[in-house]
Amino acid sequence: MSIFSRWVSIALLFVSTFACADLSLTLNSTTPNEQPLKHWLYYTPAQIENDISQIHRLPSSSWEQLTPDKINGIGNKDFWVKVNIRSRNIKLEDKILHIGNPNLDLIDLYHFKQGRLANQIVMGDSIPFSQRPIISNDFAYPFTSSNNEYHTLYLRIKTSGSASLPITLWTADSYFQQAEKESLKYGFQIGVLTAIGIFSLFIALTSHSFSYTYYAGYVLSITLTVACLHGVAFRFLWPTFPIMQAFIYPALTCLSMAFAFLFSEKIMQLKYHSQPMLRVCRAGAGISFLLLLVGLALNYNLSLTIDIICVMITSLLLMYISLVQAFRGQKLAKLFAIGWVGMMLGALLSGMMYLGYIDLGMKFKTPFILGLSIEVVFMAALLAIRYNDERLSKLRIQQDALIQAERIKQTRDEALRMEARSSEQLAQMVQERTLELEIALRELNEANQKLTEQTTVDSLTGVKNRNLFDKRMIAEGLISRRQQTPMAILMLDIDRFKTINDTYGHLAGDQALRVIAEELKKKLKRPTDLVSRFGGEEFAIILPNTNQDGALQVAESIRLAIFELPIRWGEISIPLTVSIGVSAEIVSSEQHTNLLLEQADKALYRAKNEGRNRVIPFNLEQS
Ligand code: GH3
Ligand code: MG
Ligand code: MG
Repeated sequence: MSIFSRWVSIALLFVSTFACADLSLTLNSTTPNEQPLKHWLYYTPAQIENDISQIHRLPSSSWEQLTPDKINGIGNKDFWVKVNIRSRNIKLEDKILHIGNPNLDLIDLYHFKQGRLANQIVMGDSIPFSQRPIISNDFAYPFTSSNNEYHTLYLRIKTSGSASLPITLWTADSYFQQAEKESLKYGFQIGVLTAIGIFSLFIALTSHSFSYTYYAGYVLSITLTVACLHGVAFRFLWPTFPIMQAFIYPALTCLSMAFAFLFSEKIMQLKYHSQPMLRVCRAGAGISFLLLLVGLALNYNLSLTIDIICVMITSLLLMYISLVQAFRGQKLAKLFAIGWVGMMLGALLSGMMYLGYIDLGMKFKTPFILGLSIEVVFMAALLAIRYNDERLSKLRIQQDALIQAERIKQTRDEALRMEARSSEQLAQMVQERTLELEIALRELNEANQKLTEQTTVDSLTGVKNRNLFDKRMIAEGLISRRQQTPMAILMLDIDRFKTINDTYGHLAGDQALRVIAEELKKKLKRPTDLVSRFGGEEFAIILPNTNQDGALQVAESIRLAIFELPIRWGEISIPLTVSIGVSAEIVSSEQHTNLLLEQADKALYRAKNEGRNRVIPFNLEQS
């Protein structure tokens, strides 16, 4: 080789070395406690020979500055990253290299100090958590730097999934302070989500509500996803089972999708509003569960890629459904759409940061997690509103039923009252009828009595007739016989009555008969005494418990009274006398009673014969 060509090659090497010279971060008193290293990271793909000494010897031209496009995207990656650090004018200081992606599978870290390999460690979520040099959700490597030291750190990264490399150099104190703050933040975030999840689960268990069951499933799977994204799940839940890290993301993604479909279907009440959308949601949930099982068999990258596509489809589908329902005027769908937009916005920002389109100065996952958290809280509120709506409508139905029952009761009471009233009326009617019947009966009785009386009373004079006289005479005869008391019979005949009829007419005769009968009734004081019209102008009188003397006295007083009686017929006063035959004895046999009557008749006959207007007792000797 000529001298010229040698110089040219030296010059080119110099130029290329200068052009690609890897810059080193210089630490001095002005270096911040938290120094992001993205401008000092250099990248080279994995070599055929991956011996660290060869990598260390690689010329600067083999290293390019690390830009997101080199490592972004999902897929298996295997590359080297290096960073050069010089310390100037500083005293001995503890430093921590922090790699803010907890999902890197394997990190081989080689630390060269002053050009010599000083330390080598292996980290990553594919090896047990306890092997990390510092207990941290992410990966942290501690080292000391003192004045005028030159450090080169080589990291060989092997990972599937996201290989984003937010690497920061911290002073140890600041790092621990920040780690504590971050722990608190993560703890709060995961705590809130877990609380909502468990609370929903309890409501689901106690109320047997499907909406809350799905929501609880959704929130808990989202919570676990967030815990995984923060590296907390590996640290606390399965630190000795790094194998879990290999399939937890696809599994959680599928679970979240399935529950999101089921929950959305319930919250928007698609059963009542749209059957096709209901079917889409149920099919989506079914496919998600299927994917969960299939994902276990597929390799991580493929299943994650499929899942991410499915998540995008799911988000758009649910967005579409909620918007359609919202525009149809469904209150809950409107709120659902707002919550869902929040989540999608977060995902969009995270995605754009991840792809390097924007830089919001925060971790890539932050907008997504924030959006998710907002969405979860929003959905909780939504569920509460729905639950309350349901409760109110149930209450309304209950109230309606109560009113209905009250109405039925009132109607029944009214019917009962009417029944009582009508039975009362019936009773009253029966009573009235009974009374009427009683009155009728009484009237009938009276009529009967009158009829009987008519058969026993003489119609002209109003005293008893012959028929009754005969019956009473037998009865009184029996009493006299039993009680051994005398019984008197008086036979009375108006003197020369024929002449009166002839002189004054029959009507005057009838009047005379009535006046005399009235006088006879007046004269007989005892209730047992009986006066009767015996026939024509003859009257027969029974005086029970009366001896002959008594009977004669009664007869005499009658005779005298009639003798003195003025019988008026118009202007005329008709003079009248009577003759009376008296017989009184204690009856001793059945025939004796008739005998008494005959004896009285005989005495009357004698009175007529002896000149009329007199009282004659029966006398055995005379007869
Ligand atoms: P004495 O008895 O004193 O011997 O004479 P007397 O005229 O009363 O006798 P008699 O027995 O012959 O007549 C009875 C008369 O009484 C006959 C009849 O005209 C009359 N007489 C009978 N019954 C009635 C009656 O109901 N009304 C009227 N006005 N007269 C009657
Ligand atoms: Mg006569
Ligand atoms: Mg006479």
